[in-house]
Amino acid sequence: MKFRVGLGFDLHRLGPGDQLIIGGVAIPHDKSLIGHSDGDVLIHAVTDALLGACGLGNIGQIFPDTDPQFKGISSVHFLRRTAELLRSRGYEIGNIDSNILAERPKLFPYFPQMQIRIAEALGIPAGDISVKAKTMERTGVIGTGEAIAAEAIALVYFE
Ligand code: MG
Repeated sequence: MKFRVGLGFDLHRLGPGDQLIIGGVAIPHDKSLIGHSDGDVLIHAVTDALLGACGLGNIGQIFPDTDPQFKGISSVHFLRRTAELLRSRGYEIGNIDSNILAERPKLFPYFPQMQIRIAEALGIPAGDISVKAKTMERTGVIGTGEAIAAEAIALVYFE
């Protein structure tokens, strides 16, 4: 069996709104993430990690934001499509670890739901998805509440 790892990162600006979509979960907030899709930074980072592990490019190449079919779409759809693409190339997904970088709100109550949403989309057990979060100590664009970012690492394997 052979193993490969991939790294993903994403950042979206915050703007007017009343909820965040992170890890496929709607979280009540006084702002929303701005993006062509739903701005789900965690799912975009996980998608990029998986594509990177398989050498398949990045999310912008596979799901271009110039394509009207992806406007306002749930990013869970990207994840599902990515899992299908990987399996069609002979890869299986091992595990995923991730960090969400956000000053507010407190995200840990939503981790179990995020794990389940991501695991279902990828067709792997929720125990193989790890979600964590950090603040940026009130510094920089994240710490002052202008943006939220996420990073992820994925392990894939094949015969
Ligand atoms: Mg993005």
